Amino acid sequence: MSWKPKVLVTGGAGFLGSHLCEKLLKEHYDVICVDNFYTGSKVNIEHLLKDPYFELIRHDITFPLYVEVDEIYNLACPASPIHYQNDPVQTTKVNVHGSINMLGLAKRTKAKILQASTSEVYGDPEVHPQPESYRGNVNPLGPRACYDEGKRCAETLFFDYHRQHGVKIKVARIFNTYGPRMHPNDGRVVSNFILQALRGEPLTIYGDGSQTRSFCYVDDLIDGLYRLMKTPDSFTGPVNLGNPEEVSILELAELILELTGSKSEIKFLPLPTDDPKQRCPDITLAKKVLEWEPKVQLREGLKKTIDYFEYCLRAEWCHLGI
Ligand code: NAD
Ligand code: UDP
Repeated sequence: MSWKPKVLVTGGAGFLGSHLCEKLLKEHYDVICVDNFYTGSKVNIEHLLKDPYFELIRHDITFPLYVEVDEIYNLACPASPIHYQNDPVQTTKVNVHGSINMLGLAKRTKAKILQASTSEVYGDPEVHPQPESYRGNVNPLGPRACYDEGKRCAETLFFDYHRQHGVKIKVARIFNTYGPRMHPNDGRVVSNFILQALRGEPLTIYGDGSQTRSFCYVDDLIDGLYRLMKTPDSFTGPVNLGNPEEVSILELAELILELTGSKSEIKFLPLPTDDPKQRCPDITLAKKVLEWEPKVQLREGLKKTIDYFEYCLRAEWCHLGI
C-alpha cells in the first residue's frame, strides 16, 4: 500500500460523515472513521469497509482518542432536534468534551482540524440573510440550547486552541443540508415530508408554514468542507456553507407533493419552542475564499433524495428504525 495522508472523520457513520469519508477516499486519503453509532449507522459505510484505506473505530469522542493523523474533520454530534434533545447533557458534552479531546489530538499531532459548526449559532436571527459577522440571537435556556450553545462553545474552544496553542483550525457554519442517508426517523423536515408523502400520510407542517429555510444538497456541502480544509493555514473561518435559495416550509411541502405525485394532505401542527422564523446564509465569503457555491437545484436534489427513500422503504430499513 502506498503512503497517503491520514485523515480522521468523527461522526463518519452519520449522514454527512459517510459522504465525506467517500469523498476523501476518492481524493486518495487514508481515512479513519470514528463513530459511537448514537445516530449513525453501519449501513451508511458498509460499502467502504472493503477499502484497504478505510478503517472504522467504534469510539465516543467525549473520551480521549490516540491516533496519528494529518487532518481531522470533527462532525460527531447528533444534528436533528429530536436526536439532540433526546439526551441534552450528552449533546453539550460531545460539543465541549468531544471538541477538547479532538483539539488536544490536533495539538499533539499538529493536524489541521475542521469543526462542523452550524447556522444554529445564529439562533432565531434578527439579521437576514446571516453573514458570519452576525453574533446571533440564541435562547441559552430553551430546548435547543444544548445544541446551539454547545456549538457556540465549541467554536470558542477552536479559536482559543488556535490563539493559545497555534492549532490550525477551520470552522464551517453548515446550514440545513439534505440528501441520501438522512436518518429516516430524525424528524427533520425533508425526510419527514418525503416519507409522509411516499406513505400517503399527511405532511405535518409545524406552525403556518411561513417560516423559511434554505436547503443545500449533500454533495455541494461536502465539496465546501473539502475546499475549506484545503485553504491556507491563515484562513480559519468561520465560513457559512449553505444554499442561499430560501423557501418557506409550505412551499417545500407543495414541491415534495408534486415530485412524489402523492395525494397526501397537509396537516398544520403547533410550532415547536424557539423554532427560527427564517434562515438563509450569506455565502459571500465562501464564494470569495473557497470559490464555492451550491450547484444542485432544490428540485434536482429532492428527486435524488426521494429515490433514496423509496429504496429505503423497499428495504424496510425505515420500519426497522435503523
Ligand atoms: P448525524 O446524526 O447523521 O451524524 C452525526 C454522527 O455523529 C452520527 O454518526 C453519530 O453516531 C455520531 N456521534 C454522535 N455523538 C458521538 C460521540 N460522542 N462520539 C462519536 N460519534 C458520535 O448528523 P449529520 O447531519 O451528519 O451532522 C454531522 C455534523 O454536521 C454534526 O456535527 C452537525 O451538528 C453538523 N451540521 C449538520 C447539519 C445538517 O443539516 N445535516 C447542519 C448544521 C450542522
Ligand atoms: N418542520 C415541519 N414539519 C416537520 C418537521 C419540521 O414543519 O415534520 C419545520 C420545523 O418546525 C422548522 C423547519 O421545518 O421550522 C425545519 O426543521 P428541521 O428540524 O428540519 O431543521 P431546523 O429547525 O433545525 O432548521
